[in-house]
Formats: sequence, structure tokens, C-alpha cells
Amino acid sequence: MARFHRLLRINLTRRETRIEEIPGEVELRFLGGKGIGTYYFFKEVPPGIDPLGPENKFIIATGPLNATTAPASSRYEIVTKSPLTGIYLDCNSGGHFAQEIKATGFDLFILEGVSEAPVVIYIRDEKVGFIDARDIWGMYIYETETHVRNMLGDPGIRVMSIGPAGENLVRFASVSNDYSRQAARGGSGAVLGSKRVKAIAVRGTKDIPVRDLRAFTRVVERAREVIFNNPWVSDQRNYGTPRSVIPVNDAGFLPVNNFTGGHLDDVSSIDQYAMDKLVVQRLSCGECPVACAKGYRRGNIGMEGPEYETIGLFGPNIGVMDPHEIAEYNYYCNQYGMDTITAGTLIGALLFSGVVGEELGREDGAGSVSGGKGKGNDRESRRRIVLELLGKITYREGIGGILAEGLKRVGDEFGISYHIPQVKGLGFPAYDPRVSEGTALVYMTADRGACHLRSWPIGRELSGILPADDLRKKVEFVVNQQNDKAAEESLIVCQFPYGIGLLDDVLAELVNEATGEDWDLKKMREVGERIWNISRLFNIREGITRKDDYLPEKFSKEGLGSGPLKGKLIDREVQDRMLDLYYELRGWSRDGVPQESTLRRLGISN
Ligand code: SF4
Repeated sequence: MARFHRLLRINLTRRETRIEEIPGEVELRFLGGKGIGTYYFFKEVPPGIDPLGPENKFIIATGPLNATTAPASSRYEIVTKSPLTGIYLDCNSGGHFAQEIKATGFDLFILEGVSEAPVVIYIRDEKVGFIDARDIWGMYIYETETHVRNMLGDPGIRVMSIGPAGENLVRFASVSNDYSRQAARGGSGAVLGSKRVKAIAVRGTKDIPVRDLRAFTRVVERAREVIFNNPWVSDQRNYGTPRSVIPVNDAGFLPVNNFTGGHLDDVSSIDQYAMDKLVVQRLSCGECPVACAKGYRRGNIGMEGPEYETIGLFGPNIGVMDPHEIAEYNYYCNQYGMDTITAGTLIGALLFSGVVGEELGREDGAGSVSGGKGKGNDRESRRRIVLELLGKITYREGIGGILAEGLKRVGDEFGISYHIPQVKGLGFPAYDPRVSEGTALVYMTADRGACHLRSWPIGRELSGILPADDLRKKVEFVVNQQNDKAAEESLIVCQFPYGIGLLDDVLAELVNEATGEDWDLKKMREVGERIWNISRLFNIREGITRKDDYLPEKFSKEGLGSGPLKGKLIDREVQDRMLDLYYELRGWSRDGVPQESTLRRLGISN
């Protein structure tokens, strides 16, 4: 019920497939999505392998609620080793792909090996086809998706694909589905590119049986009530993620000029009201009553978005306040198949560390960028530089060959590590972590590097629910919410509608009525903790220690440059105290290694 208890293993080297059973014990210990994906990933990916080599695996995991009528349950999870950070990576995406791939009759898909030539994998229930993709290698994302749908002649097909950035192994290339939806962070697109998989097309016709349809439908109704009683939802429905621009700016943690300032006097050209005027269509992921996605169109540019992260990082972070200009950068990142967060962070660092003009114009064979003199302050010259940089990164032309290697390499190469906002190689999202100790700790300890989606303490810190002087309470909150969110990503549901990062009882009821299993919040939280420890073990195997769990030096030395929090920083001593508390609460050693007793308690064998 609601699970097929089996996985599909696809060996690209031999073009073979194998169906395997997923043991019930694994389902009960790991729930689904992120959990079961992480379980297989840790078991099957040996230490020290090249993320872009044949030994890396690309795992697509669904959850017990996918393809049911559970609200906001149309997300899938990818687990792989990141070519950007060299550590654990999981990322997920909405749209409609998750429902379709689950309905093929499998809960999990493991891609391994490398295809000799570019290929489209076509999964139609149990049937798997390998279609020559040489003639579409090089195609942009939107054209690829349309081409694959037309080629297979079935309008019900859903497509996951990579663009030229993934093909050229740009270490922050994304995977796209439903045109504008992205599993963007950490370079999953480059992993698919290294396996020469241009696209995965899926068509599932299986029903997803639930234990008792009437009872399940009643819980679905209750879940919808929970969603519509969430005061946060109506603004999300009306404005989508751009609604964050004003509160983030008011509180003083908007990324401005490569994370120097935190506030601008006027954000009215890029706030939710300005962005709303550009909306041409309201869109939604499958089975979602919130429908927060917004369609944009201008000239030949049409897409979903821009979302808040892209607005922040391709907006104030690089000195841009024109929403159409932001949308243009967003569109090219989408078409190339590239993470807008990493690209925006990288370009911000280049523009504001003095590299543009001094380094990008150099004539040593590394390539030049036209108009690259003068740090890109002039509006049209900046626009030309940014578009040219995105193209050069995608095709690894000249200087783009270095930039495509990601933030750490760029920092080393140009001597600008101090200016690069990253933890473990993953660029900061559009929130300056100096805003609060909790936010800093979230970036410091997230399993895949600097990530805002693992916990969101800031609201409670700013409102005083988490007292300013009580570091332990803040750390406790982050630990608990990291566990909750790992469980949420195992279900796998969208984090927005149920209350960000909050597990609600109704989710356990949904799983129980769908699967006939016996979940409650305590058990789901324990799954989250188990996942968190396994991803840490993987990262330790790859050389991660306490030394990697700090913010970059700049954020402990320079205060926020503007806004109500002007001057605030997170000094190293505070970071140390937080790490001590964090490790203690997690049952890890002072160097951040899970203790034997913790692993035993969670039933993990290393
Ligand atoms: S809230 Fe928005 S992102 Fe989440 S499932 Fe609904 S439409 Fe998709």
C-alpha cells in the first residue's frame, strides 16, 4: 500500500536493468525519499570516489505520499556525491515529475556506471528503453523537454533533463523537470552529465493503493485544513517566495553587494508587489492547494519564477534592481541548467572583489570578458559581463573553465577566498548568516554545505521566542529542526504549506492511512536523526572534520554593512561555543564525529 517495495537499478555501462526488493525493515527505519536514498547511497558509494566518475551513483527517491492525493506531496529527492563540494548531496524538486515516476511502480531508482554515448532513458512502468541522444546533446533545457515529449508522442510523459552546463560538467549544474523546476544545488546535473544521460522520461500507469481510501480522504481533508489555517499560506499563495524580499530587507539580512550590506533603503522595484505585476500565469506543483508558482513572460523569455533566492542573489547581491534583468539571468541559468544560487554568489564575489576588470580581462590565455573593465558598475556593461560569464561558465570557455569548478577553486585561483560566501564549497543562499547565531549554525552544520533549508531559526530569534542570550536553546532548536526537516524530505512533502520545518501530526496520519504502517512524530524524528548521522559519517569518510564547520573568516571579522543589524558579526568564539553545544546535543565528539553510543542508539553500523 502506497509503496511498491522495490527499486529499479539501471546500469548505464552495460545498459542493463534489475528490479530489487526494498526490505520492509529499511522502509521502517528510513521512511522514504531522503532517508531511503541516503541509506542506499551510504551503503553503495565507496569512500574517495570521483563524483564525476562511474562509481558515483545517482539515486532518485520517492516517498510514501507521492502520487497520492496528499497535499503538496509532489516532490522527488536526488541523492549523490556532489562534484561541487566532494561530500554528501541531496536535493529535491517539485512540479509533476515525482508523481509520474512513482506511478511506474518503483519507490527508488539507482543509476550507476557511465553510458558510452549520450542517452535518454525512457521508463514506462517496468519497461526501460535507452534512446540515442547524440542529436540533442547540447540542447537547452526547455527545447530538450519539448523534444523528448514530442519524440515519445505521449503528452502524459514527464521529463527530467540537463542542459549544456550539466553536459560540460559545470560543478554547479542543476537537474530540471517540468521546464522550470530544478533540483539545483551541489551539481547533480554534472553527475547526470558525467553519466551521459541527457534526460529521463517517465510514464507511470500504476495506481497507488492506500489502506482505506475513505479514511485516507478524511485525513487529506484535515491536511488541507492544517494548510489553510497556517497564516503563512495566504501570502505564499498570493505572492510566492518573492514575498520574502521586504521582511528580509527590513530585518537587515538581504545580500547586498556580495554580502557586504544587509539592507537597502528602497526595494520597491523587486518586492512582491513589483514582481506580482509581472505574473502572467499562476502555476502549481501536483496536488498542491497553495499554487505558489508564478509564470513570467517577456519577449522570448518565458518561465516560472524568479523565486526569492534568485531575486536576492542576481539582484541586490550583484547590484541589480531591475526585475527584468534578474529574470533574464534566471532564464539563462534555467536554459543552461545551472543553479542560480551558486551562480549568483559566484558572480557577486567576482564583481565585488575586484576580479572583474583586473582578472577577467587578462590576456594570458585564460580568456577575457568584453566590457570587463571597471567592476561592472555601469548597468549595461554589467549586464553584458554577467551574460557573458554565464555563457563562458556553461561552455567552459577561457576563464569559464575555472569558474565552472566552483567557489573554492575560484577563491584559490584568484586569491579571493576571503570574499567568497560559502561553507564546504556550497554558496550561501540569499540570507546573510550574520543576522543570527542560529542562521550561522544552520549554514555551518548543514549536511550538504551552506543551506537554508535544513532549519529556519531566524523568525523565532528575531521575535524573541528564542531568547537572544540563550545559545543552548538556539542550538537545540537547530538540531531538532534539522531532524524534522530530514523526515519531511523523506515523506517527501513541500516544506511551505505545513509550516516551515514543522512536522505536523497530520503527516504521520497521512502516511499511516496510506501505507498501513504505524508512524508518529517521535518515530519520524528518529528517522531524521538517523539520516543526519549517516550523512555525517559519509562526510567524515570524505575528510570533513570540525575545521570545516565554520563560517568563512569575513563573517567573523566584518560586521553587516547596513541596516538595523549594522555591525553585527558572528565571531569565532561564538562559533566555537555553538559547535561544542551542537556536537554535545548530537552525541558527537568534540571534533564532530558521531560517538559509538549514538550510532548504537540509532541502530547504525558504520
Ligand atoms: S507550496 Fe508552492 S512549491 Fe510547494 S508544492 Fe505548492 S506550489 Fe509547489
